Amino acid sequence: MKTEPTYSKATAAVWAGEDSPLFKGAATTPIVNSVAFAYTDLNEWHSVATGKAEGYIYSRNTNPTVAALEEKIRVLEGAEAAIAFATGMAAISNTLFSFLKPGKRVVSVKDTYGGTSKMFLDFLPAYHIQVSLCETGNHEEMEEEIARGCDLVYLETPTNPTLKIIDIRRMALAAKQAGAIVVVDNTFATPINQNPIDLGADLVIHSATKYLCGHSDAMGGLLAGRKDLVKQVFEFREINGASLQADPAYMIARGMKTLDLRIGRQNTSAMLIAKYLKAHPKVKDVFYPGLETHPGHEIAKAQMRGFGGMLSFSLDGGYDLVEKFLPSLQLVHLAASLGSVSTLAGPPRTTSHVELTEEQRAMLGIPESLIRYSVGIEHPDDLLNDLEQALQKI
Ligand code: PLP
Repeated sequence: MKTEPTYSKATAAVWAGEDSPLFKGAATTPIVNSVAFAYTDLNEWHSVATGKAEGYIYSRNTNPTVAALEEKIRVLEGAEAAIAFATGMAAISNTLFSFLKPGKRVVSVKDTYGGTSKMFLDFLPAYHIQVSLCETGNHEEMEEEIARGCDLVYLETPTNPTLKIIDIRRMALAAKQAGAIVVVDNTFATPINQNPIDLGADLVIHSATKYLCGHSDAMGGLLAGRKDLVKQVFEFREINGASLQADPAYMIARGMKTLDLRIGRQNTSAMLIAKYLKAHPKVKDVFYPGLETHPGHEIAKAQMRGFGGMLSFSLDGGYDLVEKFLPSLQLVHLAASLGSVSTLAGPPRTTSHVELTEEQRAMLGIPESLIRYSVGIEHPDDLLNDLEQALQKI
């Protein structure tokens, strides 16, 4: 696809990365499961191996199926370059370790995904990297921490699991003044709802395992952004070895072709469900950035095109209510993960924040009665009826 700016995201999701010469005229990107790529001309092989000519050498470094997926996210995020990883956590850890060395400083928020929090709380400090975690949504505190000097600002918005919103543009401005790069985990929003690079971010990360794949049947991670920065992470990944295989790359790229359709439905259904839960007497709090009562609603409205398919809510009681309520739901998989065609639900204490202790979860404002609900593409009336019958049982 040569003229990407003229196409809508729906079209780009289908066509981007699919125009390279395909094997024997195949009308979809083939799964190239070859580990190595053979040459008859030794000079050509040498040119490709030394980066002087384009081509493929070894699939830990580059692979045609993976390259098609990388091109898709590059176009959808409006980035200069993109690379893929075995999982979302591989994308996050490779990115952090590429830029943060002993003595460097990272500023982030307390509410990142549990695995990312673990990086900040345990792994990075062990390498003498300074980590400053601010109250999520307290932009003044973040600005102060960034101005004290930092090398990398790491954001996730909306956050997992309480859907807090961070003003990307404002944080990117502060980071630029401090000479820091800005990395945003865009997993929850997807490029359909939000493009952090347009708001000033340097790099965007996805757990492609979630909405991009969309069917809970393949794992992957993606990084898109400035060419020089992506190259630096690519060189780290080449040796670190956290590359994506061709099979999951194909599954994720295939899922991405319907991303716009799925996200459209999930945005609409999540809004209906959030409003229904908000009015329900057995529900204590509803966390959804599309609700006008949500503290980050105005920022979300300014930086997102849709509010997403993730919401969370707490029941008016303790964990005993969660134990009664969740098994009564019929149209959910009670499972970790999110962003699938089927609705998924679970308590953060067994899903996103299982790595943390109850005290650490409490520090993050995650009550034990919280339920994370990832809205699927089922008809919203069926999901609403299902929630109602389960709420009636508690
Ligand atoms: N980022 C977010 C927001 C997530 O929710 C997750 C996983 O749940 C990850 C990153 C990690 O992705 P993966 O499980 O593909 O390693």
